[in-house]
Amino acid sequence: MTAMEVIGSPVEMSAWSDRVRASGKRICLVPTMGFFHEGHLALMRKAGEIGDKVVVSLFVNPMQFGAHEDLDRYPRAFARDCELAGQHNVSVMFAPSPDAVYPKGFQTRVEVEGLTGTLCGRSRPGHFAGVTTVVVKLFHMVKPHSAVFGEKDFQQLAVIKRMTIDLNLEVEIVSHPIVREKDGLAMSSRNSYLNAEERRRALCLHQALQLARGRVAAGERNASLLCVEVQQYIAGCAGAEIDYVAIVDSETLVSCDEITDQSLLALAVKIGRTRLIDNTHLLVS
Ligand code: AMP
Repeated sequence: MTAMEVIGSPVEMSAWSDRVRASGKRICLVPTMGFFHEGHLALMRKAGEIGDKVVVSLFVNPMQFGAHEDLDRYPRAFARDCELAGQHNVSVMFAPSPDAVYPKGFQTRVEVEGLTGTLCGRSRPGHFAGVTTVVVKLFHMVKPHSAVFGEKDFQQLAVIKRMTIDLNLEVEIVSHPIVREKDGLAMSSRNSYLNAEERRRALCLHQALQLARGRVAAGERNASLLCVEVQQYIAGCAGAEIDYVAIVDSETLVSCDEITDQSLLALAVKIGRTRLIDNTHLLVS
């Protein structure tokens, strides 16, 4: 295995990709904000199966954080991240500075409408415009043939798939299932904000998803009744504050009346100051 390169300059990144493309090799990109956990590493392994060369981008993107969100305290561990990526067959860690990504005078946004008007898009205005803008920029800088995204951020995945089609971007979007801790908590860099008590309380998200899956397995097909049950369950958990509970079509993100194999239950819940998200398909055909 050759050593991983760390590249900060978009121009150098682009030149590296031109060379790799000219040699006929396929590049797979894993976009991240760093502070790696097993979820990120699983995406890197998947990227290694799809592409000849894996590029991981590490960029805590200011444009996707709201004014009162956690940009300043977002966890960072660059040296450790490089070490972990280096052990996962990653050819390049692309870690540009905010100034390199957003040059002086920057005034362009890429925005998907419709899909971003609900769920996390409603709670975090401007968030998805920040995501789509930076992802298009990363695609132009890295020039990947494919890119891997996690199903944990299922709305992000739907929005990026839509954008790639709408803008004729020649990047194959590949998804990876949610990676969980042993007790069911979906892995997230933000789990590091939780103290021991909050970490226990955070289990209510996964428990609520399990409860709903159980009800559907037992025959429940009424989405609004199920939503109410899930809301009541979370409301009964100490220290949990619901942002949203929704059952939607996993592609259109439109609310469902009846549970089908396209239905996804999605949650955003605040545990203390930390906002966590999780989701599950309800009916596996
Ligand atoms: P982040 O660094 O949190 O922006 O995440 C980078 C990528 O990893 C995104 O595509 C996420 O959806 C994905 N990801 C984060 N956590 C998980 C997880 N627990 N399971 C699967 N993918 C994840």
